[in-house]
Amino acid sequence: METKVRVISGNEEIDNLIYEEAKEILKKGGLVAFPTETVYGLGGDALDKEASKKIYQAKGRPSDNPLIVHIADLDALYKLSVDVNDKALALAKKFWPGPMTMILKKSDIVPKETTGGLETVAIRMPSHKVANRLIKQSGVYIAAPSANTSGKPSPTKAEHVINDLSGKIDMIIQDDTVDIGLESSIIDLSEDIPTILRPGYITKKDFEEVLGEVRIDPAIVGEVKPGVKPKAPGMKYKHYAPNAQITIVEGSIENVVDYINRKAKEDCSNGKKVAIMTTDETKDLYNDYHKYILGSRNDELSIAKNLYKVLRDFDKDGIEVVYSESFENVSAGQAIMNRLIKAAGHKVVTVD
Ligand code: AMP
Ligand code: MG
Repeated sequence: METKVRVISGNEEIDNLIYEEAKEILKKGGLVAFPTETVYGLGGDALDKEASKKIYQAKGRPSDNPLIVHIADLDALYKLSVDVNDKALALAKKFWPGPMTMILKKSDIVPKETTGGLETVAIRMPSHKVANRLIKQSGVYIAAPSANTSGKPSPTKAEHVINDLSGKIDMIIQDDTVDIGLESSIIDLSEDIPTILRPGYITKKDFEEVLGEVRIDPAIVGEVKPGVKPKAPGMKYKHYAPNAQITIVEGSIENVVDYINRKAKEDCSNGKKVAIMTTDETKDLYNDYHKYILGSRNDELSIAKNLYKVLRDFDKDGIEVVYSESFENVSAGQAIMNRLIKAAGHKVVTVD
């Protein structure tokens, strides 16, 4: 199929036609990729099981990995869930619209195809103006996972969506103003103690300020062991991975730099194309290999924003081996490390 790419122009007349075109596609069960404040999403009508099936197909996503349903007002929350408890309302009030997804017991209107067979549903109200208008104008609750091929880094630019999904979906709405660059924080409210299933821009501390006790799902920190069922089914799959093998190196900065310079030299002399993932503050400490600068350590949000683009650049540039510095496992660093560890297939070396 031909994938239409439509660029949001800021001209109301032109843009309105884009939203109308997208509405027609969604109403007919087709797929539209669109920007949100976290990453680009691949949207279909969440209540149409055939549309959900198409999403899995286009992404090559395993059918037990549920989709997040995107809404634009609180009424929708009550339509999609039969258990909008006080905690859910408090979180919605504090963090919506924004990069937070809640897991709640689903209502009957949500098909199992959308929830990967689960009795719960993931719901988010995005703040990005394109996402918000698309949901409102189309009058559809939009099921939207990240708009990438399953396993690849999530798309933060329309170009990434085009590379992965061109020919497989009906339309891409382009507006490269994706700001956060990592997927939403996910919190499960379907059981007694709220549990974070995926770290993101909204941190554990943020959640605790509203809810009190909050747990972190063990699948976030460690590798998911065979036989153990993570609560977010997506956690068990390889993710965010470029073709290159990434090694994350932890330790004092001197030791990290020594180790990486030594290993990079070794790999280079074996004919490999080597890259180093580094930061503004530390980039000059490395010898002359391909350096990919994520951002500044003083502004971890800049690192979050660039991470997926850099992971995709490795493939574009034919990089075979990557050494990466690590980040502290707090605040935004926790979300960054969660994605980085998955991209590295859990290959972490400690050098102290
Ligand atoms: P993505 O749509 O690509 O951002 O991935 C959505 C994430 O949300 C995946 O890790 C899913 O496993 C998780 N998720 C969606 N719905 C549920 C649910 N009902 N229960 C637990 N995790 C969910
Ligand atoms: Mg995804």
